[in-house]
Amino acid sequence: MSVDRPRPLVAGNWKMNGLKASTKVLAEIQADYGPGLWRHVDLVVCPPAPLTAIFALAAVGTRIGIGGQDCHAKESGAYTGNVSAEMLVDAGATHVILGHSERRQYHGEKDADVRAKAEAAHRAGLTAIVCVGETREEREAGKTLSVVRKQLRGSIPEGSTSENLVIAYEPVWAIGTGLTPTAGDVAEVHAAIRDDLKRLVGKAEQNKVRILYGGSVKPSNAGELMAVPNVDGALVGGASLVAVDFLGIARAYSK
Ligand code: PEP
Repeated sequence: MSVDRPRPLVAGNWKMNGLKASTKVLAEIQADYGPGLWRHVDLVVCPPAPLTAIFALAAVGTRIGIGGQDCHAKESGAYTGNVSAEMLVDAGATHVILGHSERRQYHGEKDADVRAKAEAAHRAGLTAIVCVGETREEREAGKTLSVVRKQLRGSIPEGSTSENLVIAYEPVWAIGTGLTPTAGDVAEVHAAIRDDLKRLVGKAEQNKVRILYGGSVKPSNAGELMAVPNVDGALVGGASLVAVDFLGIARAYSK
């Protein structure tokens, strides 16, 4: 673990789950996010777009950040069904997840799209949580590092800093499957990302950008995964829907 390790972040990706009544879960998270935790770790919850404003209002006065799960590259216009980064900010969001594998897989998003969206996020003042990760086939073919490096090169805009960029390494085969890479595999990929950050954000920012691990993180494996060098937190899907599990993961940092 490096001495100048960035402050950890645990972000919850609620995907297409949750209704207005789910602010109850946010209240449960808030109730147990006391000084013993917030001194050590930041929390961000990313609900579906229609819940952004209500969650942001519910989070006022707490230390919990609210994020979107995607944004359009344009500020406004004839883009039916889309949400702009400016709209997320207006609703109270501080972060946005971009390039999640489900967006890449089901919506055909390419690195250039992710980059344009990250530029939009920065223009609007959001921190972009940019996701990268290999498929099972790519891992089995020994292409993990080249795939992740190519995604990083293509997806990270110029002008990114540790303030407006978070990287999430999420092996596609580990998302929602209960499977996780070994600590050694995670360490190898995170070290490669850290290495590439020198060219992407410059030497002064290289070690400050947070690199999250995501893929079947739960309270029982968080301790081991969060202790891996260059793992600065987690992007959590399923387990983030349950307050006790989300906080259980964050507690990996309170020990
Ligand atoms: C995710 O969707 O970003 C994710 C990591 O999901 P899960 O934790 O459910 O594997």
